[in-house]
Amino acid sequence: MEEITIGNTMLRLFQGDITRQTTDAIVNAANSGLMGGGGVDGAIHRAGGPAIVDECRSIIMQIGRLTPGRAVITTGGNLPAKYVIHTVGPIWHGGNRREPEILSDCYTQCLGLATSKNLKSISFPAISTGAYGYPPDEAAQVALNSTIDYLKRNKTSLELIVFILFDNQSCSIYRNHLAAISADK
Ligand code: ADP
Repeated sequence: MEEITIGNTMLRLFQGDITRQTTDAIVNAANSGLMGGGGVDGAIHRAGGPAIVDECRSIIMQIGRLTPGRAVITTGGNLPAKYVIHTVGPIWHGGNRREPEILSDCYTQCLGLATSKNLKSISFPAISTGAYGYPPDEAAQVALNSTIDYLKRNKTSLELIVFILFDNQSCSIYRNHLAAISADK
């Protein structure tokens, strides 16, 4: 199961590198300081160039460090995507420190921001599942369920939402969850 449609929006799974996606926006699994880091964050800043960090710096000067669950939007710089939406996922501490709620907020905030900019397409990485240690299976469930809940509860300009999975394991985890969701529909 690689695709599912909810209302007017298609959800798609794709294995690859998020920096190469041509959706209107790509989402960055950033950290609170927004100054770049490892993993997907480092890849986005390397490929997007200095225009992204310049905008991040002025955002931080205006609103301070980003608390987990929030999202902000910048240019995509040299990336094929026009915008980067930076969100800060929760660090996994065992699951009793509101990690699922915060992770869900990340997806909802990004979708809301994309909708407010009238964007048609967005790509998400598997937020928090790298350095932040969120178990990939539980994170996939939160990612898909919060996205589907958002689409059921809100009007959106988004016609395409892509989940970019970097490795085989995440890809098969998402595939299994999506199959279970569409069997339930
Ligand atoms: P976090 O700090 O939120 O855990 P990471 O960047 O460490 O963020 O990891 C998040 C997920 O992004 C991981 O599943 C990792 O494999 C994946 N990832 C790393 N680089 C890329 C990339 N270029 N494109 C898509 N996904 C990536």
